[in-house]
Amino acid sequence: MKVVLLGPPGSGKGTVAERLLRDFKFLYVYPGGMLREEMGKKTALGKKVAQFLGKGKLVPTPIVVGLVAKKIKGKTHYLLDGFPRSMDQITLLDNPHLVEQVIFLKISEKEVIERFAGRRICSKGLHSYHLKVLLPKQVGICDHDGTKLIRRTDDTPAVIRQRFQVYRKETAEVINYYRRRKLLATVNARGTPEEVYQRVKKVIEQLK
Ligand code: AMP
Repeated sequence: MKVVLLGPPGSGKGTVAERLLRDFKFLYVYPGGMLREEMGKKTALGKKVAQFLGKGKLVPTPIVVGLVAKKIKGKTHYLLDGFPRSMDQITLLDNPHLVEQVIFLKISEKEVIERFAGRRICSKGLHSYHLKVLLPKQVGICDHDGTKLIRRTDDTPAVIRQRFQVYRKETAEVINYYRRRKLLATVNARGTPEEVYQRVKKVIEQLK
């Protein structure tokens, strides 16, 4: 199965993805996490992309497509989290068979804004938590890799606003494109992490 997970910032993509990986053993392809990891390690690529992430802008398409294409080459069972996010990423990927199902987590901007205050992520930038609805087993520590939980550096009001703008301008068009191609399943992303996940799980189970 080749699945794409899309939705506005804060819609719960990372939280849904973690559960999908647990239950369906997808290869996880998450450009946001890969880019943050590069930034953390201060690699040449990390330094190059820091300005884009810091401003809530999309990283240039050739960089992201390069990362993704390398990871999915020859693979048939993967979950793309937050990719493709603009029409030129679809064009550059240029292979309609690389996507079989798109899950769109639908939620209003107003509802999602309230989630941001409690949002946390592990220091590796990979695992998501929330101070009210998704707590780690040990306060302030990631269940998976034992690193400290932090706020994402791009979770500030100004950067969140910019990320929403990018979403409306670029990603909404991608969602419409997949709707026209009849590959889109729209899932209501309101509710607890488990409620949302059960809705997504149903869609994936129907694909098997
Ligand atoms: P995310 O963790 O998915 O919210 O992504 C965090 C940041 O990584 C975004 O605000 C972008 O700067 C960058 N990013 C993630 N996915 C993509 C993508 N498909 N295309 C370009 N930039 C991306």
